[in-house]
Amino acid sequence: MQITDGSVVQFHYTLTNPEGEVLDSSSGKDAFAYLHGAGNIIGGLERAMAGRSEGDRFVVDIAPEDAYGKRDEGLVQAVPREAFQGVDELQPGMRFQARSESGQTQVVVVTQVAEQEVTVDANHPLAGQALRFDVEITGVREATQEEREHGHIHQGKDEVH
Ligand code: ZN
Repeated sequence: MQITDGSVVQFHYTLTNPEGEVLDSSSGKDAFAYLHGAGNIIGGLERAMAGRSEGDRFVVDIAPEDAYGKRDEGLVQAVPREAFQGVDELQPGMRFQARSESGQTQVVVVTQVAEQEVTVDANHPLAGQALRFDVEITGVREATQEEREHGHIHQGKDEVH
């Protein structure tokens, strides 16, 4: 069975950056599963999956714009230090959930700590990065009607929707 819109695909992967450092991997975990054609995974990887089938192995290089997007310097903000009351030893690299003006929650990373202000970056940690995926497809099945309607898979979870 070939991967097409409406397929549920399971795969193992190793994600590296152009320098060859491993950023993420499914090794030792369950295979990752997604609904093809629903935008559940990054665009560059979803396109590389189309037409393949169980047992296929491949490596794909993905440009930032087809992965987590380019960095947006507008997402780097200085906020007053009072906003972090109750946080001990505020340090670069710490992550926080913040609410944006539109009400969505987003994860921000502290990049600089000064006496009055703290600089936070809401870019995805992999924004602006080219990515290389080494993929092995371990399963392809047809999505159920309900999965198609919901736009995601229902595997191994007792979700209430
Ligand atoms: Zn659902």
